[in-house]
Amino acid sequence: MSKKLCIFANHFMEQNDKPFIIAGPCSVESREQLLAVSKALCRMPRVRMIRGGVWKPRTRPGAFEGLGEPALRWMKEISDSPLRMADGQPVRFCCEVARPEHVALCQQYGIQTVWIGARTTANPFMVEEICEALSGSGMQVMVKNPVSPDLKLWIGAVERLQQAGIDRIMAIHRGFSMFNNLGYRNAPLWEVALEFRRHRPDIPILCDPSHIGGDRSLVAPLSLAAVQLDYDGLLVEVHPSPSAALSDAAQQLTPDELTSLLSSLPCSSGQDNDASLEPLRKQIDDIDHELLSLLSHRMNLSRQIASVKREQKLTVYQAKRWEEVMNDRLQQAESLGLNPEFIKELLEKIHGESVRVQMD
Ligand code: PEP
Ligand code: MN
Repeated sequence: MSKKLCIFANHFMEQNDKPFIIAGPCSVESREQLLAVSKALCRMPRVRMIRGGVWKPRTRPGAFEGLGEPALRWMKEISDSPLRMADGQPVRFCCEVARPEHVALCQQYGIQTVWIGARTTANPFMVEEICEALSGSGMQVMVKNPVSPDLKLWIGAVERLQQAGIDRIMAIHRGFSMFNNLGYRNAPLWEVALEFRRHRPDIPILCDPSHIGGDRSLVAPLSLAAVQLDYDGLLVEVHPSPSAALSDAAQQLTPDELTSLLSSLPCSSGQDNDASLEPLRKQIDDIDHELLSLLSHRMNLSRQIASVKREQKLTVYQAKRWEEVMNDRLQQAESLGLNPEFIKELLEKIHGESVRVQMD
């Protein structure tokens, strides 16, 4: 288990169990539903906590908005019952809090882990109010990314929690709402989450494949991608009968589907110490050094071209030449079996820098 995960979870776990799995229904719908899903999830050794929506922030009015306090009451009843999670501990539940009053109710019913939802993370005033309510509670808090790909809002919410004295924090990547969601319910934009991790390597990060995908067929491939990207864990929606769910019916898995998903995930340690990688990595290093010195040579040529253009009173940007360059390189890329979109982006970057250098 990575050190940062230990820090988050030191309340109740010591085990080496990355990816940290949280699973459970989008919404708590009845005592029977919560009990059935809890019993099923308690049989799964890799499930470390059970989620259940109590208050549901819905994008449009009229949808199921959660049961509120009765749901918390059932959670407490189950946590106090003899039912045990696979590690032998009482059942641990977590839910979303969207207002300070929610925090107080969670405390009242013994919920120790909560998350701030995507719509709330986007609202610093509300994050601040929730932080005040959480201050001194000793709760563990997860912060979903804001609905828009605004890294600073996401990091800002983490900072507000820390300022309120909350030290057990995890992030959840649940995708971003774009005009074109690229075939997902929320576009993954993995690069935004990777950037979050670069800025805050101390904060464990879970992937929420259910809300990214919006469709149960996408949950497994997205989970696999997250594990390959070395995420610390997953938050997966699981319902005893997903098609009858009152919210997010299309994306929830059955407990059996979760079992097979978990057994298909590689147990990644996130560390590589395989000596056979070394000679290959050496070659990659050499190629990168060569690429960089070629780029430097190319930029020097751009500078020489710039002075000729100045003398000849030519503009820096030459549309026809740029089009010829692009077409020629894309043809070469195709014959070399390189992804043309990647090469196009790369060339645009190089050309952009060349134009910048010539304007200097
Ligand atoms: C949820 O997890 O049930 C939820 C509403 O998620 P999000 O805040 O990511 O939309
Ligand atoms: Mn949901």
